[in-house]
Amino acid sequence: MNPIELSFEFFPPKTQEGLDKLRATRAQLLPLKPKFVSVTFGAGGSTQQGTLDTVLEMAKDGVDAAPHLSCIGSSKESLRAILNEYRSHGIRHIVALRGDLPSGMGEVGELRYASELVSFIRAEFGDWFRIEVAAYPEYHPQSRSPRHDLENFARKVKAGANSAITQYFFNADAYFRFVDDAHKLGVDVPIVPGIMPITNFSQLMRFSEMCGAEVPRWVAKRLESFGDDRDAIRAFGLDVVTDLCRRLVDAKVPGLHFYTLNGAAATKAICGRLGL
Ligand code: FAD
Repeated sequence: MNPIELSFEFFPPKTQEGLDKLRATRAQLLPLKPKFVSVTFGAGGSTQQGTLDTVLEMAKDGVDAAPHLSCIGSSKESLRAILNEYRSHGIRHIVALRGDLPSGMGEVGELRYASELVSFIRAEFGDWFRIEVAAYPEYHPQSRSPRHDLENFARKVKAGANSAITQYFFNADAYFRFVDDAHKLGVDVPIVPGIMPITNFSQLMRFSEMCGAEVPRWVAKRLESFGDDRDAIRAFGLDVVTDLCRRLVDAKVPGLHFYTLNGAAATKAICGRLGL
């Protein structure tokens, strides 16, 4: 029995090759006995079928599989239809998000924020779904202020979320402070740190720029200095992320949620080093 609960995030593959890779990844990660796995959802419903297919395939392995659902650009009717379909398949766990509109895509939709999606799910489906929401220890890039973002996070939880998963971060103090501040606002649900294994420098910098996660200068500089030496990037990344996870585990965080990017090696290596 792992002393800490693990969860793994995947995205729906678009090709047969991607599907084969995901199946191989799953086979390697499921022995770690995750509490649940989750599958991302493209804003506006672009991966709707892929998300459902992937979740159903994973659920067949007997694992709790939670689809992500974003509300931006969608009508209540279409969200209701998706949720009804999940329910008809016996899915009882969901990650509720606002999402981001792809550039050039017009309408915001009927629900503007994740808190409104959580309220909608609770109003229409009662307690059928366990609901996870997103949290941002380094604050959401569009937030007006750290305080405002925290209050919005608390609103989402009060609307009926059972648990939260954070955006990834490399600064554990940002997470600890965020959790303390959220507790002061009356948030009493688990806030599980999201963990991004480091395997690719340019991809990491691109993602981090988009989502507002800070890559510490010393980490970025070291990664950059390795150039195309992928082994050196992976080895250093493994050290950095394992150290972060160790600090979090020592502080008795409620779990670790890995952004696997559909690969097993880095997540497995980190968990192995942690003895999980
Ligand atoms: P919200 O909680 O609605 O917050 C968005 C912004 O609005 C914040 O700045 C917040 O402070 C502000 N805000 C909230 N409420 C109010 C209000 N009432 N008034 C004014 N401002 C307000 N994206 C995808 O497209 N698909 C995925 O599958 C996906 N999975 C994710 C999983 C995790 C664990 C995380 C952390 C993120 C994920 N994302 C995904 C990204 C997410 O959709 C984006 O970060 C998005 O920009 C915000 O979504 P949210 O649910 O956090 O939004």
